Amino acid sequence: MGEELNPFKIAQEQLDEAAEIMGLDKQAHALLREPKRTLIVNIPVKMRDGHTETFTGFRVQYNDARGPAKGGIRFHPAETLDTVKALSAWMTWKCSLADIPFGGGKGGVICDPKKFNEVELENLSRGYMRAIADFIGPKTDVPAPDVYTTPQIMGWMLDEYTRKVGHNEFDTITGKPVEVWGSEGRMDSTALGGMFVMREAAKALKLNLKKSKIAVQGFGNAGKFAYTLSKEMFGAKVVAISDSEGGVYDPDGLDLKKLDEAKEKTGSVKNYKSKNAKQITNEKLLELDVDILIPAAIENQVRKDNADDIKAKLLLELANGPVTPDATQILFEKGVMDLPDFLVNSGGVIGSYFEWAQNISSYYWDTKRFHDELDRTITKSFKDTIAMQKGYADKGKKISERMAAYVIAVDRVAKAMKARGWY
Ligand code: GLU
Repeated sequence: MGEELNPFKIAQEQLDEAAEIMGLDKQAHALLREPKRTLIVNIPVKMRDGHTETFTGFRVQYNDARGPAKGGIRFHPAETLDTVKALSAWMTWKCSLADIPFGGGKGGVICDPKKFNEVELENLSRGYMRAIADFIGPKTDVPAPDVYTTPQIMGWMLDEYTRKVGHNEFDTITGKPVEVWGSEGRMDSTALGGMFVMREAAKALKLNLKKSKIAVQGFGNAGKFAYTLSKEMFGAKVVAISDSEGGVYDPDGLDLKKLDEAKEKTGSVKNYKSKNAKQITNEKLLELDVDILIPAAIENQVRKDNADDIKAKLLLELANGPVTPDATQILFEKGVMDLPDFLVNSGGVIGSYFEWAQNISSYYWDTKRFHDELDRTITKSFKDTIAMQKGYADKGKKISERMAAYVIAVDRVAKAMKARGWY
């Protein structure tokens, strides 16, 4: 590949490019190239046979000039400090672009949650929260779910935090079960936000969604809801979907019941059966002749070596970091509208903001209000991004959608740092 795929280097490279485009102050640029605070913890966890295993975890607060750090916690075997740093930088840009009152943060534990039983998972979740509890809080840093973490895990973590402070602070963590004042709409808000962006992008590209073919990479929280909502909201045809083991392609469209069955019975959607269905690899899924491609799994999927083979007209980055900087450039030159992760998947953290605000005020909304406010907030982010891109084009400078979004996000954080006298 020959490409540098360290996610933190990628995040820094993207910032450098944006800084150059917008003429960012050098002092602000230097401040924004590194996280503000980084915590590394080692957590003892009692396993089912009674022995104690040690797990390493991280929490990074990248920037809090605009509000408390905000971002999810990942439980992943390939977690690294640099991945968490990159994701915390992207959270900073995500919250800024959405114009919600948070900075950016992220957490992670190196572990394979698929190997745990329920008790081990609870022990690790509580252990991680005990280890970071002095570092976080509703006014400093507010965690949430991410890859392989769930509302139940947030419930345990909330409870552990409560033991430390001695009273309920529901605004400590978001993405909670609804029984402990999580939000009804938070569960699918990442995908729903992506759908509102897809609707606006289709308008801009004059794409008829009813007649569009879509491929989705990933069958987790983001991917699965992207599949169901594309069909429900727009009547679009999802012709391919995958999970970490592989994917399935059916030109006639896929059926959710059968997908769920294949996943449940065989462990993977790749074993989906129908008259015209055939198995495809995750790589081939990206190259299908579809109108819209939705990477909704993990980082570094569209790279220098395969970007030229992308046939979709619209690429919606529902995962974090699925397109490398070299690939962004290639897609841009090919004329693909590639909408960046920190715009497309910001519905998750926007939903978290609504949950946090409701927890603070102890006044709860209905789901309709949640959806309407999500639509309004994320549609504005999309329109701001396209307007910024057009503004540069009018001045004779063509920039990608990613860079347009960066310029908006970085400018807001830089202005907040300036207002606070950080430089
Ligand atoms: N993990 C989600 C993200 O990457 C949500 C973060 C949050 O709600 O704080 O955006």
